[in-house]
Amino acid sequence: MPYWWEAAEPKSVPEAPVAERCDVAIIGAGYTGLSAAITLARAGRNVQIFDRQRPGEGASSRNGGITSGNIRIGLSAAIEKYGEAKGLALYREGVEARKDLQRFIHEEKLDCDFVLSGRFTGCISDDHYDIQARETDLLNRHLNIGGYVVPKEEQHKETGSAMYRGGVVRPDIGMLHPGKFVQEMIRVAVESGAILHGETPVTGFERVSDGYVIHTTRGKTVARDLIFAANGYIDGANKWLRRRIVPIPSCMIATEPLSPNLMKTLMPAGRGMGETRKLYRYFRPSPDGRRILLGGRSSMFGRSEAESGAHLLKGLIEMYPELSDTKISHSWNGLVAFSRSDIPLLFQRDGAHYTGGYCGSGVVWARWIGQKAALKILGSPEGASVFDCDPPPAVPFFNGRTWFLPAVLGWHGLLDKLGRGVVKA
Ligand SMILES: Cc1cc2nc3c(=O)[nH]c(=O)nc-3n(C[C@H](O)[C@H](O)[C@H](O)COP(=O)(O)OP(=O)(O)OC[C@H]3O[C@@H](n4cnc5c(N)ncnc54)[C@H](O)[C@@H]3O)c2cc1C
Repeated sequence: MPYWWEAAEPKSVPEAPVAERCDVAIIGAGYTGLSAAITLARAGRNVQIFDRQRPGEGASSRNGGITSGNIRIGLSAAIEKYGEAKGLALYREGVEARKDLQRFIHEEKLDCDFVLSGRFTGCISDDHYDIQARETDLLNRHLNIGGYVVPKEEQHKETGSAMYRGGVVRPDIGMLHPGKFVQEMIRVAVESGAILHGETPVTGFERVSDGYVIHTTRGKTVARDLIFAANGYIDGANKWLRRRIVPIPSCMIATEPLSPNLMKTLMPAGRGMGETRKLYRYFRPSPDGRRILLGGRSSMFGRSEAESGAHLLKGLIEMYPELSDTKISHSWNGLVAFSRSDIPLLFQRDGAHYTGGYCGSGVVWARWIGQKAALKILGSPEGASVFDCDPPPAVPFFNGRTWFLPAVLGWHGLLDKLGRGVVKA
């Protein structure tokens, strides 16, 4: 069970009849769907959200809660690939999205343990340190984010691990309690008038003259507009989308409570942390500062939560040998979503709105992209985004079964061993 569920387990919601008609139907009640629902319901639209699990039970209550708003490629690579104007615009929208998340939490008074803690990324080689220094300089020059490098001699202020060759701090990134955050979004969505149907799978949909008919296990509804907000949990309800979104299992563990002295030694700055690896690992203190929570893409489909957890614990002990006798109290899995694009997706197809593909960085992006999709339906110019795109191409030879995952993860592991890793701050 996710550690987060100790304080905020997803709840069944009272069963409401599926209305025959509504303005907007949303498939998926995570950050994306709830964000869209809040914006639409507050603008007076009649909204129904469907989730096949309990609302919030997908990635939105299972993640690390690090508000990174990462883009998979660094700023220099984004400029090289998309040109200077678009590369910078992608990163600028990231700055805006992170700020807007803070505004939302503050204005709505959401009880979700948000702290603007900053994030430290440890470099696994000297080359990575040099690259990170250049990327940080570029980010500061264009976006004024106040990032700075921490040389190896100084890194004891950031981490008790001797594994890194220095690192970089991003003060604009924080942490929240993801389980509480999604519960608070559910509360705000319902208070705003959205109708939430939990444990109600959408089984199919079809285009009609005045919108879409959406079929669910509890009846059908006709909606003028439709938003897909299922991200990594997309299933056979939309076979076209399932060939374009690749769900990747991601696993997390929480340690048993550690002594305050040990926590101070291992994580002296109390920040969210990451590494310059292809097989990215991220870790953070729990909101009460007593445990370390660590996540990574080390799990495979079919691997149990306990097996994935044992694998992650091995990595944690390599990082912090002091933890060799430490037990893990929780281990859990969830699904993140990738596509053939390296940036979040926001597009329309046959009149329906599609979102997702946040590449494991959805705490900022999912809420932002959901809001953008809603603003588009409302006809607001604020719905425009640099992430607006055409429908993405299908992933070759893929129909929802990630048969290629072991090979891809193995390749990324090899690149890490060769010190190739990632190139972004
Ligand atoms: C272990 C883990 C750690 C992560 N750590 C971080 C992090 O530290 N920082 C960060 O920024 N991001 C992180 N992420 C990513 C982040 O959690 C996701 O990007 C984000 O939660 C996506 O939100 P969403 O609303 O789009 O999707 P989800 O929250 O996954 O919701 C999708 C919902 O769609 C529903 N659904 C699917 N099909 C149907 C259907 N046919 N009918 C009805 N409902 C359906 C599912 O039941 C699910 O509840 C992590 C993810 C995982 C799994």
